[in-house]
Amino acid sequence: MNLKGWVINNTEASSSKRKWSSRYCNSFCERPTISFIQSLDHTYLDPVPCERFEIRPSQDRAKTTLILPDIATCEECRREIFDQQNRRYRYPFTNCTNCGPRFTIVEGLPYDRRRTSMRIFEMCPECAEEYHDPRKRRFHAQPNACSKCGPQMELWDGHVVAHGYESLYRAVIAICDGLIVAVKGLGGFHLMVDSSNDWVVRRLRHRKRREEKPFALMFPSLQTVTKHAQVDPLEEAITLLSGSVNRAASSQQRQGTGGVNRARQSVPRRHVAVLTAAPLVDA
Ligand SMILES: [Zn+2]
Ligand SMILES: [Zn+2]
Repeated sequence: MNLKGWVINNTEASSSKRKWSSRYCNSFCERPTISFIQSLDHTYLDPVPCERFEIRPSQDRAKTTLILPDIATCEECRREIFDQQNRRYRYPFTNCTNCGPRFTIVEGLPYDRRRTSMRIFEMCPECAEEYHDPRKRRFHAQPNACSKCGPQMELWDGHVVAHGYESLYRAVIAICDGLIVAVKGLGGFHLMVDSSNDWVVRRLRHRKRREEKPFALMFPSLQTVTKHAQVDPLEEAITLLSGSVNRAASSQQRQGTGGVNRARQSVPRRHVAVLTAAPLVDA
């Protein structure tokens, strides 16, 4: 587009001054899928000399901007995670400008990597190249990381017993064996068990002292949810529309579906919360 000018990220909003012809205005409004424009003002300014387009260093001003929520892994990142030829193959912390952590890594505003918990992970040359290339999906993606330079997985049982993908694989085996696995996620720990195992669900209820409140169930897809629970058409539409945002719906159980029943054990209510998430371990 041969745009010249600058944009800046500050704690009030994202501002820009650009030199352009009006036919580019619509192109400017093309934006990352997860972003939204709260307000957009145009004004005519006197021309200023600009030789190129640049993203200027952030400014710290009155803190009025919104912090985005964490966003579930997008389809493009999922494809990379399962692509054996991709350098992010089986790397669970893969993210881009359309997905990944936001709220739980932010330590201050404006939103820059140095003000997030990712600041201790220095990007490798390949990630840094993606970060600085405006043609790439990871241009200025603050949590950008790969298996070389980003956070790593470990499985602990009092001490480290496995690293990397093996830790994920062994965690799955532990769940299948009826153990309770605490998964450190973005916003804290998730305690995971096999919902089809009556004994371990009761054990978790006992340990959590949560005798009545339903547990959330995790399914690989909405289609699988409908095999176990009755999904209200409105809930289904909202879930499908929500796209890469983490999906949750409260659905009525179907008769005779063990996992749903166990999640509701002793629960007088008709609904349980269900989540859909793509599995990271190959089938
Ligand atoms: Zn992504
Ligand atoms: Zn990297």
